[in-house]
Amino acid sequence: LQEELYNAEKYQMIGQLAASISHEVRNPLTMTSGFLQMMGKPSINPETLERYRKHAMEGIDHATSIITDYLNYAKPTVEEARPLDVKAEIEALVPWISSMAVMAGVEIRIKHDREVPIFILGEPKKFQQCLLNIMKNAIEAMPGGGTLTVKTKVDDGQVCITIADTGVGMNKLQLKRIGTPFFTTKEKGTGLGLMVVVSLINVMGGQIAFNSKRGQGTVCEIRYRICNV
Ligand code: ADP
Ligand code: MG
Repeated sequence: LQEELYNAEKYQMIGQLAASISHEVRNPLTMTSGFLQMMGKPSINPETLERYRKHAMEGIDHATSIITDYLNYAKPTVEEARPLDVKAEIEALVPWISSMAVMAGVEIRIKHDREVPIFILGEPKKFQQCLLNIMKNAIEAMPGGGTLTVKTKVDDGQVCITIADTGVGMNKLQLKRIGTPFFTTKEKGTGLGLMVVVSLINVMGGQIAFNSKRGQGTVCEIRYRICNV
C-alpha cells in the first residue's frame, strides 16, 4: 500500500513538473535563440562570434540537463530489484568520480567497516545513479579542493552509507529546500538531482538524511535494510 501511495504521489508530481519543465527549458532556449540571432549580424568580429557561440551552446546544454534529470525521475522502472553488493557498487563508481575529483583538486577516501560483502535489495543502475548524484554535488561543493569521504558501516540490520565533503556547506534554509524541484544555488544547476535521489531511495525502501554546516561541509547518510543472500 505504501508503494501505491508513493506512486500516486509521484505521478501527480510528474504532471506538475512537466508544466514547470517547459518553463525552465524555455529560458535557456530563448537565450540560445538570442545569441544565434546576434551571430547573424554581418559586421561581427571573430572573438564576439566565438563568445556568442559559447553562450548559445551553454543554453542548449542547460536545457538538455534539465530534460535528462526530469526523465530520470519520470521514466518507469525497467530493472528488477536484486541483491546488490553495496561495497562493490561503490567501488565501481570510483573511476567515474575520480575524473571529476581530479579536476576539482578533491581527494577521495573510501572506508569500509566490514571485510565481507554487504547486500541490499535494489536496482543497480538506480542505486549507482543516486550515489553519483550525491558525490557529484559533494565535489561541486568543493571548488577549491577538499576531501570526499565515503564510508559504509553495518548498524542494527542496516547498512549505513555516508558521503561527506569538506565543501561550502548549507544553511538551515538551504538544507530544508534540497530535494524540492528546481532548488539550486548553481549557475548551471537544474535543482532536480536530489529530487531524483530522494525518490529512488524511497522506492528502494531506504532512508536519506543530510547534515550540513555553512563553510564546513555536508554529510549525507543513506540507510538500507540488509538482505541475506
Ligand atoms: P543541482 O546540483 O543541479 O543544483 P541538486 O538537486 O543536485 O541540484 O542540488 C540542489 C542544491 O542543493 C544545490 O544547488 C546545492 O545548493 C545544494 N547541495 C546539494 N548537495 C550539496 C553539498 N554536498 N554541499 C553543499 N550544497 C549542496
Ligand atoms: Mg546536483
